Amino acid sequence: MRAAGLGALSVATLLAACAPASSPPSEAASQPANVGLAKLAATRYHDSGDYMRDLARAAAPANDWLRQRATQVARAALVLDIDDTALTNWPVILANDFGRFATGPCLLPEGPCGWHAWDLRGEDQAIEPTLQVFRTARSLGVAVFFISGRPESERAATERNLQAAGYAGYERAYFTPDGARFATLVDFKAPTRRTIAAMGYTIIANMGDQMSDLDGGYAERTFKLPNPFYYIP
Ligand SMILES: [Mg+2]
Repeated sequence: MRAAGLGALSVATLLAACAPASSPPSEAASQPANVGLAKLAATRYHDSGDYMRDLARAAAPANDWLRQRATQVARAALVLDIDDTALTNWPVILANDFGRFATGPCLLPEGPCGWHAWDLRGEDQAIEPTLQVFRTARSLGVAVFFISGRPESERAATERNLQAAGYAGYERAYFTPDGARFATLVDFKAPTRRTIAAMGYTIIANMGDQMSDLDGGYAERTFKLPNPFYYIP
């Protein structure tokens, strides 16, 4: 028995000697938020009305700024993002349970719904606080430009959708070249704003739901709308 015990000890010693030298971490890594719970919280945020209240709160200062600034500069311009800034994608977000499927058919309301197919339907509703900012701009003679990450192939459907949702009388809409890939949409949106500025406009306000809509300059003020539903780098 004694010999067997020594043998076991020797094996244990040998295993310990072969084990990695590092000691176990003293603290567990902090886990990111549970995705299932985050989806429930995001749905509650939308359905409770908090999302709409926050949209209105974020957009209201843009109306004030446009009224204050529009008459002080020559060729004042407003830049708006489209998805979840001018138009809402909530039906497809919900149908996809917060997933994002670029291709495939759009099966509503049960899902899944491919985003390209959804965009081609041109059925998005306006986000009302943004539509109000648009109307304020137009009433002041401010030129409105849309800059979207949507591809050119969606231009016709998207412009039809914008008109139907109430965005009539804008100057121009910019879309990404078909097949183009950007590490961040800042690489498309900021140079597009630079192009607008080079045409002689002063972009006094730029509104979007992603920081990549707003980063990169060429706007006097930026207005960030809430969007906890997805992230566009
Ligand atoms: Mg957007």
